[in-house]
Amino acid sequence: MKAAIIGGGPAGCAAAYTLRKHGHEVALFEAQDHVGGRTSQVLKDGFNLGSGALFLMGGIYPRTNAILKELGHYRELVRWDADTEVLDADGRRYTARFDQVLSFLGMSALSWKDKLRIAAGVAKQLVTPGPKLCFDGAELARHDSGESLETWSRRVLGNKGHDYITVPYMGFLYAVPMSWLSPALFHAVLKQFYRLSLSVPPEGVGQICDWLIEGSPGLDLRLSAPVERITKADVGYEVSAGGEMHAVDAVIVAPEPGVAADLLSGLVSEASITKLRECLYSDYAHVQVCYRRNPWPRHRASVALPANMERDWGACVLLSKRQPTAVPASGEAVGVYFYTPPLEHLSDDAIIKSALDAVHEVYGPAPEPDFVELFHYRRGLSIANPGHYGRLDSLHAEMPPGIYLAGDYFAHAGVEAAIFSGELAANRLAKAQL
Ligand SMILES: Cc1cc2nc3c(=O)[nH]c(=O)nc-3n(C[C@H](O)[C@H](O)[C@H](O)COP(=O)(O)OP(=O)(O)OC[C@H]3O[C@@H](n4cnc5c(N)ncnc54)[C@H](O)[C@@H]3O)c2cc1C
Repeated sequence: MKAAIIGGGPAGCAAAYTLRKHGHEVALFEAQDHVGGRTSQVLKDGFNLGSGALFLMGGIYPRTNAILKELGHYRELVRWDADTEVLDADGRRYTARFDQVLSFLGMSALSWKDKLRIAAGVAKQLVTPGPKLCFDGAELARHDSGESLETWSRRVLGNKGHDYITVPYMGFLYAVPMSWLSPALFHAVLKQFYRLSLSVPPEGVGQICDWLIEGSPGLDLRLSAPVERITKADVGYEVSAGGEMHAVDAVIVAPEPGVAADLLSGLVSEASITKLRECLYSDYAHVQVCYRRNPWPRHRASVALPANMERDWGACVLLSKRQPTAVPASGEAVGVYFYTPPLEHLSDDAIIKSALDAVHEVYGPAPEPDFVELFHYRRGLSIANPGHYGRLDSLHAEMPPGIYLAGDYFAHAGVEAAIFSGELAANRLAKAQL
């Protein structure tokens, strides 16, 4: 059986790795000149900057961990303690650990009454049935009641719990207002708080795709080969890329859903195309502010997160503390991650200025940075709004024989969601060929 995989992000690379494990002939088509997608690393002047993904999340990323163990790379992951400062609107700071959600309960901004209410809310969550896998769209769909995360968290954790726990936590992960999100992921995280830890491969999250490709000997990897069209053939499909046609038995379509909709137009129903096109995406930007000499060598916390949503940005991260090899010796870089709604009103220059203001507010005075690098995605993160998981999951059953979809958007943006979906698509394909 010969399969084509379109897209060399974590979803496509995991699909390729899984199909090669089953012994199938596989061609992977990637539009860029490298694999990695939104996890790609950018090397500049001795800095190793993540164009997107920052960290893995330990036990709540089971499929990623399992594949890294199979590949023999799991032990190379570098643990990140993620000492966190939560900043008030008026600049007061409270300490917590991002990898220990319950540590947020220790913040003195919360009264004993607030803490009791939050503890009762979390305890209730622990005994209420909920999703066991944080990134399985089908399972999340069963626990998506249609309520928004904001309504849920104000009701269950109270207003203070919402402002000081839900907003900094989920604001860092998704950078959109809590009213845009379904609560299913946060439920799943709270239920499995003890499994959470943070880590990074030694060369950044982008290294995962390199490892997957290295672990897929015999893979026909086609870089700088954007697929333009998929057509139905008498037997199987023809995939057209760079003026060449490739006959295959089956196709795994793993770019973002708007591209998937373009490629599948005419092959699947209009209703399926509409679901793909209407999948909500956020405008997302982050700025890496880079210094060859660290201006704040004694700053302890590595993440700063605003409580409530009083600022344009949702997180500042000191890269040397997350992954020491990301910066040159004695250097430092701060990643400033922006919230979506202000972005559409900000020019790229204004985003950079706002990032520098954030850096000075959080870490104090500093000389001019050696350089800044802006990463701005018009479609950055898929946003799982209430009803999202069920709507997207139903797409799998709507695909014609031999066409499979993969991508993080079936759950919510995240490497685990992408790897889970890629592996699932490959396993479904392999099973259908038996
Ligand atoms: C700023 C930012 C920070 C993030 N932080 C984290 C984090 O800390 N932890 C985490 O787990 N996740 C994080 N994510 C999310 C993570 O990067 C994504 O979930 C993951 O990359 C999704 O993988 P994917 O394969 O579904 O899609 P992508 O990574 O987007 O890959 C899709 C690939 O398809 C290719 N493609 C598109 N069109 C075509 C075509 N026509 N033909 C061939 N190829 C095509 C693209 O070039 C791309 O390489 C972050 C994302 C961003 C943007």
